[in-house]
Amino acid sequence: MKKRIGISYTKTNFQNYWNWFTSEDLKDDIELVKLSFEENNTEEIFTCDGFVLTGGIDIDPSFYNANASYANAPDGFQKDRDLFEKKIFEYSQLHQLPLLGICRGMQLVNVLQGGKLLQDLSASNNIHKKEDKDKEHEVVAETNSLLSEITRSSSGKINSAHHQAIDKNAVGKDLKISAYSKSDDKTVEALEFNDKAGKGFMLCVQWHPERLNGKEESPFSQNIKQRFLAEIRKITMEKIALINPATEEVIEYVNEDTQQTLEEKFKQLRKAQPAWASVPVKERVDCIRRFVSLIDKYKDELAKTLTSEMGKPLQQSHNELNGAKAKIQFFLDNSEKWLAEEWINKDGATKEKIVYEPLGVIANISAWNYPYLVAINVVIPALIGGNAVFYKPSEYTILTGMHIQKMMYEAGVHEHCFELAIGKGSVGATLLQLPLNGYFFTGSYKTGKFIAEKIAHKLVPCQLELGGKDPLYVMDDVEDINAIASNVLEGVIYNNGQSCCAVERVYVHEKIYDAFVKSYTEQAKKLVAGDPMDAKTEIGPLSRKEQVDFLIGQIEDAKEKGATVLCGGNKINGKGYFIEPTVLVNVNHGMKVMKEESFGPVIGIQKVKDDEEAVALMQDTEYGLTAAVYSKSFERAEKIMKQMNTGTVYWNCCDRVSGALPWSGRKHSGLGSTLSYQGIRAFVQPKAYHIRG
Ligand code: NAD
Repeated sequence: MKKRIGISYTKTNFQNYWNWFTSEDLKDDIELVKLSFEENNTEEIFTCDGFVLTGGIDIDPSFYNANASYANAPDGFQKDRDLFEKKIFEYSQLHQLPLLGICRGMQLVNVLQGGKLLQDLSASNNIHKKEDKDKEHEVVAETNSLLSEITRSSSGKINSAHHQAIDKNAVGKDLKISAYSKSDDKTVEALEFNDKAGKGFMLCVQWHPERLNGKEESPFSQNIKQRFLAEIRKITMEKIALINPATEEVIEYVNEDTQQTLEEKFKQLRKAQPAWASVPVKERVDCIRRFVSLIDKYKDELAKTLTSEMGKPLQQSHNELNGAKAKIQFFLDNSEKWLAEEWINKDGATKEKIVYEPLGVIANISAWNYPYLVAINVVIPALIGGNAVFYKPSEYTILTGMHIQKMMYEAGVHEHCFELAIGKGSVGATLLQLPLNGYFFTGSYKTGKFIAEKIAHKLVPCQLELGGKDPLYVMDDVEDINAIASNVLEGVIYNNGQSCCAVERVYVHEKIYDAFVKSYTEQAKKLVAGDPMDAKTEIGPLSRKEQVDFLIGQIEDAKEKGATVLCGGNKINGKGYFIEPTVLVNVNHGMKVMKEESFGPVIGIQKVKDDEEAVALMQDTEYGLTAAVYSKSFERAEKIMKQMNTGTVYWNCCDRVSGALPWSGRKHSGLGSTLSYQGIRAFVQPKAYHIRG
């Protein structure tokens, strides 16, 4: 895996920075990445091992509280560039990654650290401003500076092409000047950290080493570059390979968070949350409304990323985005009502009311199968409720998590109120050690139980949306068996069967069993498996490699115990984590496929003699997420639905979630509810006011 240097894009002379790093410099272990404010490719920042902040147009003076009209001011500023490069700088500091600031890059570092700039030098001294070509003059490096250590010279000739400079009376926090121009004006020519302990390598220079005359020999170019490259090569970041499950190719290597970066992000969340909580609910709702329009704006890119990360067919990625918008609509329409203060008693000597206050900073540790849908259950009402959110996307959908964060900030969520925890389970486990005010988890029972046990002593809210082994019963009075079989099949295989509320086992009344199985199997055989980017594809790959063997294990176990495979049953050979849609009959509850969550396009269909037997089998599970009954008669179906110990029941439908209804699991399927008004109130705490006088 190559190390990556991110170079910030500038409209002027970008190629000079790029070409400065020759193929001899980069060898076969470093590559360059263009970080472009125009493309807003924030995700790429998270893949880099070091950065170059380049030169270019003046920084927007609002960054250092200065007036925008000054001599030689540009016609317009590029605030989006400043903000994008701010992200780069902050990321480099968070992870202690090497940073080289050049010209404007140095000025940006100074203002981001709270320093100021001289807005125009030309009136007093014109030795710096480029005319038809760069100016040249001498600089003097401070002794005992990083710069002099690198250049091994106390002075040298550099080039110059700027009309702004560091205000030496307003140098940013923790920075020190390490070179001045030799002439009388003593313009600041280099900056570095004063105390370097606990910080990454950083050197900032006002000149342009990338285009300095004689740069190959000059220690003020060559030595700086070589030292920067050496620092990049020293970086040992833990990286996660994001694999496309359809092709098994690496999409990207992303840097993992560490204990230290998570602690730092938590501090920022804690600091930022009160101001967010003080924003009126209506404005927070409007912010989420903008988030919804951004989903629309970027839908094609978002859908492609989602499909490439976790393998669902592209149309289903679009469906997920549309579903997310529909679910969010419930929160947009109802949050103000459910978060408003409630007067319980307005009369009498002592008045009483309830005020709903945010929990504070909450964690959302999330799953990969529906990364938008499962995240919005939590992060939308949490933000609307005034909380800051530490969002941990699954390690299988990190890019989607990054997209969500980017859109949150673009929509107007306050800076640092929506931070990402990037990494595998160990990163999630680190969040459990931090003093968060609530934990909202979506994932497996195993991890949910671990989380609940680990945080129990904190006595903060803990909500768990876990797995299921959801049953579906087809009664003997149904009329259109083909239509029902088609509906059930969709409930089994949609999202490649990787839905928490996917149909996981089917019971069919003996009177219609043969007809149902025939129809179901015929339809299953017609399913098109293949490239999830292809519009014809109905079955994509499973998201995780190990899941293929897990499902084959369930199928083999069932076969050994007497099951018959009517369709599928095998891995699909070639690249990608594909398995054939599989139908098993002659199954019973001694088989794993009828008891363990499958999470794939595999189904066991069992014959039952009557409703009583169906109920007993449907209830024979550790889980309690959903249960579905298909019948002509609501009364008959309702008798069964009432007996289900599940958070959701369906009559003549399945595998469905509504924003207006509570989503909750019982037994090993979860704890607490999201969605509906319960899912708004879940992210606030009531305060009782007793008001006398
Ligand atoms: P998982 O439990 O493996 O991982 C979920 C998240 O927990 C990931 O972000 C993971 O990195 C993190 N994690 C893993 N170990 C951790 C630890 N020790 N401490 C803290 N965090 C840890 O689950 P998954 O494979 O991502 O998701 C699939 C499961 O999620 C299935 O069981 C599915 O049914 C369930 N699910 C439930 C719902 C629901 O609404 N009930 C929705 C979607 C998925």
